Formats: sequence, structure tokens, C-alpha cells
Amino acid sequence: MLEKNKIYEAQIVDYTSEGQGIAKVEGCAVFVPNAIAGEICRIRIEKAAKTWASGKIVEIMERSEHRINRACPVAKLCGGCAFHHMDYEEETRMKAERVRTCLNRIGGENLPNVPIMAAPTCEGYRNKAQYPVSVKKGKAIAGFYRAGSHDVVENQRCLILPPESDAVKDIVIDYVNQYRVMPYDEKTHKGLLRHIYVRRGTVSGQILVCLVLNGRRLPKPEVLIQRLKKVPGFTTLVVSVNTKVGNSVLGDEFITLYGPGYIEDTLCGLNFRLSPRSFYQVNHHQAQRLYEAAIACAEITKNDTVLDLYCGVGTITLAMAKAAGKVIGVEVIPQAVEDAKDNAARNGIENAEFFCGDAGQAALELERQGIRADVVVVDPPRKGLNADTIEALSRFAPRRIVYVSCDPATLARDVALLKERGYQLKDAIAADLFPRCAHVETLVCLTRK
Ligand code: SAH
Repeated sequence: MLEKNKIYEAQIVDYTSEGQGIAKVEGCAVFVPNAIAGEICRIRIEKAAKTWASGKIVEIMERSEHRINRACPVAKLCGGCAFHHMDYEEETRMKAERVRTCLNRIGGENLPNVPIMAAPTCEGYRNKAQYPVSVKKGKAIAGFYRAGSHDVVENQRCLILPPESDAVKDIVIDYVNQYRVMPYDEKTHKGLLRHIYVRRGTVSGQILVCLVLNGRRLPKPEVLIQRLKKVPGFTTLVVSVNTKVGNSVLGDEFITLYGPGYIEDTLCGLNFRLSPRSFYQVNHHQAQRLYEAAIACAEITKNDTVLDLYCGVGTITLAMAKAAGKVIGVEVIPQAVEDAKDNAARNGIENAEFFCGDAGQAALELERQGIRADVVVVDPPRKGLNADTIEALSRFAPRRIVYVSCDPATLARDVALLKERGYQLKDAIAADLFPRCAHVETLVCLTRK
């Protein structure tokens, strides 16, 4: 076991899934934030367990040529971005490598490399921000959590967000301070404003502002609306009522105070309605490229029925509808399903159907009803597919399975399960939808043997 507070010299040999560097010291894995593979550092141990430890760099003995200093003034404090210290070449290299390692080690593949779709820009790309609100020196502040904590790091201007998003945040904070709206305190469960959620359609420029309240009512909402109207594109103000203790940001009830309660955006040539509760990829440009690649590898023909599980507001479903005979989307969030149905209608798409429910259970039910699926698309949350979904996939036995994943480890686990059920991996490509952040998206195509 390594000694706490002792300084060890070691080389960074790899990265964790959160983007921390890994050094090996006396057979122990040491996790080191802000480190770059290849660097030799002096590391002070902060936590030590039997097989692992974590520590901080006290000195870099050999610096990586990929080390940079980012312009962000709170880069070292804010837990939002993991890679303020690393150039984009190294960031994309390590993301592609992570996908490759997962598919090989967990998925039983033997891929020599996995290509990555790198982003053309690392700035201003995020179309959604959820700023937690807190108090500092008696004033409300908003920003993002410090890594591994719920302390809010105040941030004037977040570089991965569009300026309109921060402009909204500043207006809300000024209003909150003026009208003495109490920020929510997790420890006491007192206070009103929990989060400021802003979503801006990258193409439409429309802005949704959603204030998450531990309650239902804001003082003087008309003053806030008047001020928000100064931000170009401001479209709607919604309150999300979340009086529950816990980490989930949004509550179940939404009250529209101004505008339609949703925004619109254009993606893959289609118009989408987006309610606050509905999922929408945060990087518009990269999502569009990812979906185009997904459509290409699905190789859909006019007679095909396509089943899109975990379909959200129907982005991929509807983008595939033109090429297919019929498309069916399944999604668990009712508001997203309502959006998806509306989205089919607003784009004049008549061969799409949407169901609300758990993907696996709904898919099994559809299969029982005799529905066939020639191509199945799955785009699950990080935990990947559940047993029902895997079972439904093997019963449908589609020609192709297109798997869009936000976690390469669970993707690789599911690929291994699908290989046992008669599928083989045809293509795998990583896509960087989250520059500066540790997450990486992957698209794989599986064909039936
Ligand atoms: N394909 C869509 C959405 C992907 S995100 C897009 O690219 O825009 C994953 C979606 O799965 C979310 O909309 C989430 O609400 C939904 N989801 C999560 N668990 C689910 C489950 N068990 N069954 C069906 N959908 C689920």
C-alpha cells in the first residue's frame, strides 16, 4: 500500500474513463488528474487503498508535448471540463483508444484501431447548460460543480457554451439577487432556485429558459421575462417544479410562464420540437454527422421496417423514415414521445409510429404482436441495454443492428452478448460530441452472421 502524503515519481501510462491519468507505482494504480500519458511526474498521494491510490501532481519532470494552458480562468476548479491541460490531438487520440480498448478487452474484438470523428470546434458547441445555483458572500451565484463535489464554481463565461447561454444565466442571477429569491441549499432542503437550465437551438437560435424550483412560484416573473427578451432568440420561460431531495435536476411538473413551453431546431434537414424534459444531443454539428453515419451504415431499403429503441424526440427515427417502408420509435419519457409524434407530423412524415415505454418491454411486446424489424437502432443511456432489450433483439433477428452508445464499456459488453446471439461487428467509429469533456460517443454496426 502506498503512503499517504508521500511523493512518488512515476510515469503516466494510461487514462481512466473520467480522463484522469493513471500511473503505476509499486504495482498500485494511481489516479492523477490533469496528467498526460507519457509524462513523468512527482505525485503526492492523497488517498491510498490496497490496489489503487489517487494523488496530485506536485512537479512535472518530463512534460508532454501535448500539454497546453487553456484560456478558461476557472479550468483548474470547475469539474465541467476534464481536458483543459491537453491539446485536442491527444484528447481525440485517447478517446479513440478508449473505445478500441473496450471493444477489444470487453467485446472480444481484435481491432487494430478505431477511427474518431473529431469535432471542428471545441468552443461554444454545447446547446444546453444546467447551471446549479448557490450562495457566496450572501449573493446568489451560478456556475458548475467542482470535480467530485457539489460546490458551485462561479463562472462568468464558459467557453464550451454559446454566449447567449451565459447572458441568460447572468440576467437570472441579477434578478434573483434583486428580488431575493433564495438559492436552494441541498443540506437544509431550503431555498427556491435549484438550477438554471438553458437550451439554445443551434440552427434556429431559439432559447428555452427553464428555472428549476423547490416550489412553484417566482416573484415578479414579468420583470424577468422583460429582461430575458433582451437576449436574441429568447423564446420561452418554463418553471420545473422539483421539491424532491436528491440529485435529479428536473422535476416532473412544468409550468410555462412565457411562450410555447418548447423550442424548435433543425437537424438532418428536419424540424424538431424540443420540450424541456426531452433529450437532445448537446453538440448539434457532431450529432448530425453521427446520425448521417448511422443512416449510412443501416443500409435501409424501401421495404424495411426500422425499429428505433431509446428514440428521444425521434431524431434518428425520422431521419431514417424517408429511406424506409416504416419506422417505429420507442421512448420512456412521455413528453419526448409527444414531441416525437408532433415532429413526425410537422415534417409530413406518415410512416412513423411512436410508443411510450421501456425499450426492452415494448420491443418484446411488438415482437409478440408479429411486428418484424429489418434494422434495429439502439441509443441507450450509459448503462446500455437491459436483458429484455437483448432478448428482443435476438428474437427480431434484424439484418442489422445500429448501436449508438455514450459509454464504450457497456457498449462492448452488449456487443459481446449480441455476438453470442449470431451477430458480428462490422463497423466501429468513435465520435467526439463532447470536446474538453471525458465522454465519448461510439457508433457500431452489427450484421447477422
Ligand atoms: N436517439 C435519441 C435519444 C438518445 S438518448 C437521440 O439521439 O436524440 C437516450 C434516450 O433513451 C433518452 O431519450 C431517454 O429518455 C431514453 N430512455 C432511457 N431509458 C429508457 C428505457 N428504459 N426505455 C426507453 N427509453 C429510455
